[in-house]
Amino acid sequence: MKTIETSKNLFAKAQNYIPGGVNSPVRAFKSVGGDPLFIKKAKGAYIYDEDDNAYIELINSWGPMILGHAHPIIEEAVKEAAKSSLSFGAPTRKEVEMAELITEMVSSVEKVRMVNSGTEATMSAIRLARGYTGKDKFIKLEGCYHGHGDSFLIAAGSGAATLGVPDSPGVTEGTAKDTITAPFNDLKAIENLVDQFPNQIAAIMLEPVAGNMGCVLPKEGYLEGLRKLCDQNGIVLIFDEVMTGFRLARGGAQEFFDVQPDMTAFGKIIGGGMPVGAYGGKKDIMDFVSPQGPVYQAGTLSGNPIAMAAGYAMLNYLNQNNDIYERLTQKVQKIRDGFEDNLKKLNLNYTINSLGSMISLFFTEKSVENFEDAKTSDIEKFKKYFHSMLNQGVYLAPSQYESLFISDAIEEEEIHKIIAANGVALKEAIG
Ligand SMILES: *Cc1c(COP(=O)(O)O)cnc(C)c1O
Repeated sequence: MKTIETSKNLFAKAQNYIPGGVNSPVRAFKSVGGDPLFIKKAKGAYIYDEDDNAYIELINSWGPMILGHAHPIIEEAVKEAAKSSLSFGAPTRKEVEMAELITEMVSSVEKVRMVNSGTEATMSAIRLARGYTGKDKFIKLEGCYHGHGDSFLIAAGSGAATLGVPDSPGVTEGTAKDTITAPFNDLKAIENLVDQFPNQIAAIMLEPVAGNMGCVLPKEGYLEGLRKLCDQNGIVLIFDEVMTGFRLARGGAQEFFDVQPDMTAFGKIIGGGMPVGAYGGKKDIMDFVSPQGPVYQAGTLSGNPIAMAAGYAMLNYLNQNNDIYERLTQKVQKIRDGFEDNLKKLNLNYTINSLGSMISLFFTEKSVENFEDAKTSDIEKFKKYFHSMLNQGVYLAPSQYESLFISDAIEEEEIHKIIAANGVALKEAIG
């Protein structure tokens, strides 16, 4: 067993001063048990805890570090920018270059507004869609995560009820009644909702490839079907590409599947590791944002120069090194093949979903196409698997319902280690 005394001590102390000891819940390891690692540093494919244990990184800050940690291009950009002060609260050249680059990389985005997190991006996108259409309700898909904005913390109503119910104390029923939920990958269900609430639905928002119930791919024709439905009913189609943007392709999932949303929310990779988000889309919609239009949205630190320097360096690199996507896909394919061999040797038939640099192993034999399917995973087995991987030096997301992210810093050596650890961990999980 690895010694994690320092992490344990820090976690104990943290709980005196920070709710639950962490600044974002999933970090606390609650769904897998045990103490979270406190991280000291990371470089390339490896992350190091406060006890100097090294782990192969498969969380990568939940997505942003697609090039691996402390990539010199991004580090340099941040250092250089820091020399000229950390914030102005006034327009800068870099913001213009950043916006231009985003619109060049993502074809459906004609104008874009920078914010400070994925949550801000999705919240603002929904407000804008409502302001633009003059309608109140929107459809959210079960298992998709859009950050912690009130109108997204909504669970499916029970039984025949289609209106959502608050999924967290503090979210009001008044808010919940304007969020309608439907299962992922079920076009018919959404068509029914659109019929049921004629002229009341401002937007449909979804992760085009879900990463927050584990990796779940859209069925053939699903995204196209949503596009058509939105066109026919004057509904704003919003892709939450906070996770998939600049990850599945230069232009995100919308490029990969060749379906153009009206609006897109970004986060994670777009900041290169800094706290950044953005929302963008068609010009006539984006021109509804203040000061051009009537829909209010603002931010003291939005477009922050350090954040723009990091984000621009990241996007510019991806834009100019487009071969990264094929390379990441091949790396994931090797990992997937290795996992499948391991499963076969143990006579297991668990489901693996993967696309590009995203991959999830579900502890279920059911194919996973929506949240209900994902929930058939054997969580007890996942817990054992997680801790075995961690103890073997592989840092996985501490939840069955997260995708893993492969960074470009992962090479053959790490791939072999990951596959070998998976073989051992699977044995321990079922034993
Ligand atoms: C991470 C995530 C968010 C929230 O972004 P934050 O920066 O954590 O606020 C929203 N949507 C998706 C799809 C995400 O993966």
